[in-house]
Amino acid sequence: MCGVIGVIGSYHEDKVPFWAAYEAYRGLLTLQHRGQDAAGVLSYDKDRRKFYGKKNLGLVSQALEQEDLEACTGNMAVAHTRYATVGTDGVSDLQPMVAGFPFGVGMVHNGNILNYHSLAKKLGETYDFQLLTNNDLELMLHLWCQKILEERETQNTPLEFRHIKEAAKSIFKEANGAYALVGLMANVGLFALRDPNGIRPLVLGKRKGEKGDEYCVASESLALNFLGFEFVRDIQPGEVILITQKGEVISEIVGQAEKVSHCMFEWIYFAGAESTMEEKSVYSTRLNLGRVLADKVKASINSGEISPDFVCPVPDTSRTASISLAESLKMPYREGLIKNRYIQRSFILNTQDKREKAVALKLSPVQSEIKDKNILLVDDSVVRGTTSQKIIELLKKNGAREITLAITCPPLRYGCFYGIDFPKGSELIANGRDLEEIAKWVGANKVIYLDEEDLEKAIGTTKLCMACVTNKYPTDVEEGKTFAQMRRS
Ligand code: SF4
Repeated sequence: MCGVIGVIGSYHEDKVPFWAAYEAYRGLLTLQHRGQDAAGVLSYDKDRRKFYGKKNLGLVSQALEQEDLEACTGNMAVAHTRYATVGTDGVSDLQPMVAGFPFGVGMVHNGNILNYHSLAKKLGETYDFQLLTNNDLELMLHLWCQKILEERETQNTPLEFRHIKEAAKSIFKEANGAYALVGLMANVGLFALRDPNGIRPLVLGKRKGEKGDEYCVASESLALNFLGFEFVRDIQPGEVILITQKGEVISEIVGQAEKVSHCMFEWIYFAGAESTMEEKSVYSTRLNLGRVLADKVKASINSGEISPDFVCPVPDTSRTASISLAESLKMPYREGLIKNRYIQRSFILNTQDKREKAVALKLSPVQSEIKDKNILLVDDSVVRGTTSQKIIELLKKNGAREITLAITCPPLRYGCFYGIDFPKGSELIANGRDLEEIAKWVGANKVIYLDEEDLEKAIGTTKLCMACVTNKYPTDVEEGKTFAQMRRS
């Protein structure tokens, strides 16, 4: 999973020459939760006819220095914050990526191409393309350039939307997987596209500039709000959009999937609570998740199976659902665990060792609230179970009597091949275990999960990918299983 952003507007004397790159950087800071391995920025300066960029390992604020941004002049820019599942050979595997032929183009994307190997082989055999990185974006860059080369009648033919449309169609046809892509075409403008299933999010924003409208395309609407762009709409599944240097906006849906399948995990865990996706507020959805979970918990309370004293969230993501859950149950809400705000999310860290250390470091128990209490502990999801196990151990060590673990997600039993870092089903705690076994493994007295219908009800749509719950993937995943083996353990 990654965060992407692109900004375009006019340049004039009142603006600093690197304003677009600076705006993309500021927006990227708000998308930091989507990836913490690396960051990069790329601008295009039409006066100098040049791309300028910088990419580096680390958090956005560490990877990009002020002088890097100041060097990125021009009125359009893209930026990327990276969460690597494949392609980890240092800076060469980072984004943005650029090509100079047959037309200057730079790109960033969020997602995963499942048919990476066969597509790489095909491009090599058909066109003699030599891959220089392990990043799947490079394949899309090659597909894009090849199609533009084929479609332009001569080198002097001006590059138009019809060419861009054909290039997008070529990606939709050849690249199987999830991708939300934003790019710059030298002298032409900023473009964006979203895979035909719409698995990863992408939104469009607009604001009034002193010399015309300015546009922003980003993974999440919270970046638009932060930068003062008004939310216009979600980019549609299979849509390609071009915003030209003159400020024209041209778009068309050119890829059709049988079923639109937005990743349900965005609402449950990944996206910022302030964001809106597919016109559904992430915060309101999390409140709904708490309400539907309350019905399930009520049944266990009424049967006398559990008797919690209060609702306690695992900070931070589950806090919102915990509030509505407590309200629905008319039960006190207490914060029995305080998060050290300087530690990153544990699940997103990419090795088991790093994850375990992060769990131990990031939460402190509030003993006065915990001691001798029956706790209804709420978490947004249980992936490997490591975090839940450590937290329950911590609560019990500090005097908690009984712990019921309530989860605002159905059991995750199957791998994700679309960019979330749990591709091996065997790594998932719910894989091959029933509820009692899961409770025993994590050390809880009971676990209560949402079911699929509850989840659809809470999000308010059935157009969801829930493959990690149901094993029904929106695209063919056979090759993805091989691809998953490339990722770090
Ligand atoms: S498999 Fe799960 S995590 Fe992956 S895209 Fe689908 S819903 Fe999201």
